[in-house]
Amino acid sequence: MHCTPKTITILGSTGSIGRQALEVCEAGGFPVYGLSAHKSEELLEQQVRRFHPQVVCISDPDHYQSFRARVADLPVKVLTGIDGLCELAGDRGAEIVLNSVMGMIGLRPTLAALDAGITLALANKETLVAGGELVMAKAREKGVKILPVDSEHSAIFQCLEGYRQCKLNKILLTASGGPFFGKTRAELESITPEMALKHPNWSMGAKITIDSSTLMNKGLEVIEAVHLFGVKPEQIEVVVHRESIVHSMVEFEDYAVLGQFGVPDMKIPIQFALTYPQRMTCPTGRLDLTKIGTLTFSKPDLDTFVSLKAALTAIGRGGLYPALLNAVNEQLVALFLQGKISFLSIGDLAMESLNLRCDGPVTLSGIQEAEAMAEAFVRQHI
Ligand code: MG
Repeated sequence: MHCTPKTITILGSTGSIGRQALEVCEAGGFPVYGLSAHKSEELLEQQVRRFHPQVVCISDPDHYQSFRARVADLPVKVLTGIDGLCELAGDRGAEIVLNSVMGMIGLRPTLAALDAGITLALANKETLVAGGELVMAKAREKGVKILPVDSEHSAIFQCLEGYRQCKLNKILLTASGGPFFGKTRAELESITPEMALKHPNWSMGAKITIDSSTLMNKGLEVIEAVHLFGVKPEQIEVVVHRESIVHSMVEFEDYAVLGQFGVPDMKIPIQFALTYPQRMTCPTGRLDLTKIGTLTFSKPDLDTFVSLKAALTAIGRGGLYPALLNAVNEQLVALFLQGKISFLSIGDLAMESLNLRCDGPVTLSGIQEAEAMAEAFVRQHI
């Protein structure tokens, strides 16, 4: 089917999702309106020269002057800071904004794009985890579509298309199990960052790769799914599926289960968000099920992978607890990568942080308070 390419802004274009999105744009002939990076000047410059965006944001102000000098010969507007990022996100020069910024900093740009009424392709899961109520309320108020880019949520979204009016029993959220599937706590004691950074199926950035190894990533995805699809936490079942071929499934009232299959390549869900409701050929391999042969499914080990248990506890309580947990986890992952805490401490401290009282309403200032609380908690415990 012929697909009319939409004009795109990519926030976080030098990260793993951003770079793959640009491959999709190049292959599909999508015009690029805006790009942003935090501080990767060299790669952002290369991208600007190749994709000719009209607006670009280098969000770390310390890199603003030097980056501007790099592209001084080009007709491109250069922004900086979180305000610059929000200005770019809300710039209606793009028909669709892909938010693949890493971490909590993605929340304000998400709200800015929705405020401007621009379709949002969302790859920044932290913003839905921490500010899901805010983001979904804003999307409803403005009548704007949020198209999930995370492979599981894209799969669920695709399975629900055409059946929005039908009663959904549950979502079966698949998990690869990460590199430490089947290991005991004792075996995880000596895990180093290098070991945790090797994911068997997906190639991703460092933060999400560590989150995948602790299963916190799956926990954050459960929280994301609660908001995106308006279901109760208990309607989501995490299923370990080592092959990463079934990207998630849904079960309807009649017990019919629909799943979306495909090779584990993020370009497929990224492209689907950009072409929705149409489809087009994707620059990726094809799935050959007979070569794969066997697909396996099992229950996650919540006693070993405490981070997943912590995320399920946080969403069960609701309110600001997911924001608190997410902020604690962001800091613990950074400390683990710096060699300052052990692998098991990530989950143990994440779980312990939920003993804090964090009962306020989900507002931007409430989220900031939860983050400050998270910071104080982590400082006390290392
Ligand atoms: Mg995922």
